[in-house]
Amino acid sequence: MDKPTIVLASHNVNKLIELKQSLDKSVRFLSLNDIGFHQDIPETATTLEANALLKAKTVSRFCQLPTLSDDTGLFVKALNGLPGVRSARYAGERATTNQNIEKLLTAMEQNRDRSAIFRTVFCLFHHHEPHFIKGEVEGLITTKKQGEKGFGYDPIFIPQGHQHTFGQMSLDQKNLYSHRAKAINALSDFLLYNKFPRAIGVQLL
Ligand code: IMP
Repeated sequence: MDKPTIVLASHNVNKLIELKQSLDKSVRFLSLNDIGFHQDIPETATTLEANALLKAKTVSRFCQLPTLSDDTGLFVKALNGLPGVRSARYAGERATTNQNIEKLLTAMEQNRDRSAIFRTVFCLFHHHEPHFIKGEVEGLITTKKQGEKGFGYDPIFIPQGHQHTFGQMSLDQKNLYSHRAKAINALSDFLLYNKFPRAIGVQLL
């Protein structure tokens, strides 16, 4: 049987790379470019779940294919959960990654409690039916950027029990512990053992 096709409802190529690295054997992922979707995707909701739903629905309506969206946020305890759902726009609507990181490091300057959680919510959407799958990892915010790998807040986040930031890890290493890797594992189980994936052509073991 052919691999099922799922469209990733994100313009973030790093997310596509992380998904492909882990699930390439069982799923054929299409990017938004592959399906000719070039608009911005709305992220106007106040929770990761609602944003993920919004993105998956928008793209699913466009292509009529099973669609997977990812909404991720970094929730810092000393900042009462900020930047959280606003992680992409923490330093302003058109903020760059560096501006977001600088703002976060400045906000944390006086804080000894560096604990934070990275959370990912996937929404798998097909035939008007959403399924939510989550992954999270606890860790610490560094005092300065460390490492050039990864993307987003990776250079300032050390996952619990480790010495290095995600920005210092290879993709293989990040994929062992990250919020998205956990969500990907849960997605993989869901695709194998649930009746919804059978409807989109996932072969059972
Ligand atoms: P969104 O899920 O694309 O809206 O991402 C929210 C924010 O979190 C953006 O600033 C991303 O760069 C950042 N982000 C998402 N996933 C990761 C990750 O795996 N590592 C580091 N930053 C991330």
